[in-house]
Amino acid sequence: MIEEVSARVPESLAAYRGGVAAGPGGPDARPLASLRDPAVFDATLAAFGAGVGASSAGLERRALVSYWSQFYLAALATPALTALVRLGRPLPLAFERTSLELDAAGRPARLLVDPATGRGGSCLGAAQVPQPGLAGLVEDHLRPFVELCCAQCGLAPRVIWGNAAVILDYVAGELGAGDAPACAEVAACLGRPGGCACARTPLAQALCAGAAGCRRRTCCLRSRLPGVPSCGALCPLERCAEP
Ligand code: SF4
Repeated sequence: MIEEVSARVPESLAAYRGGVAAGPGGPDARPLASLRDPAVFDATLAAFGAGVGASSAGLERRALVSYWSQFYLAALATPALTALVRLGRPLPLAFERTSLELDAAGRPARLLVDPATGRGGSCLGAAQVPQPGLAGLVEDHLRPFVELCCAQCGLAPRVIWGNAAVILDYVAGELGAGDAPACAEVAACLGRPGGCACARTPLAQALCAGAAGCRRRTCCLRSRLPGVPSCGALCPLERCAEP
């Protein structure tokens, strides 16, 4: 199924085509669940901080976790939404059965799923069948991811939900039309008109309308890091949103 998804990713999102793969990954791949161990998470964040040139202690730690999550969510969003919008099916991205691979700069680069579930075979047990729609991704993956990030640095959950909403909203826009019921469900989960079971989740409430499109409701802190650009028109603070 993952090959099928890759083939349906639009050119504008080609850089994220390989964000989800089936298999064990390289020797440094780590189960997402292992990141709940503070020592594993700290080592992962320290590698990322070294690449960015930022310390992973004190106030900067929260900004660093937020920025780290943006790379993670970028890897996740394109394959996950392409599967939903273009094929009308979810990828098997349950948090507890997915691993993470980093690139040479310590950035989250690829999520790895079990090859059996990645093929989307009919032999899957009930516990391995992904919940449908973006609502399923929210419950099976995004919610535990947000909890992980917040538990490891004290960030408010709305910061990570905002990061997820920004990238998912962008990818949904690039994908455009597709499987009609899936598109309607994705739109409702992102807080657009329609209404569904997930319409009142933090994801649906993370963005609001701005003069130049949607913008965050909550600052993501990234511009506290040295050399990291601002969020431009997405910024909720008027003075930072100027070009
Ligand atoms: S640009 Fe705005 S949202 Fe982004 S980190 Fe700066 S203040 Fe926060």
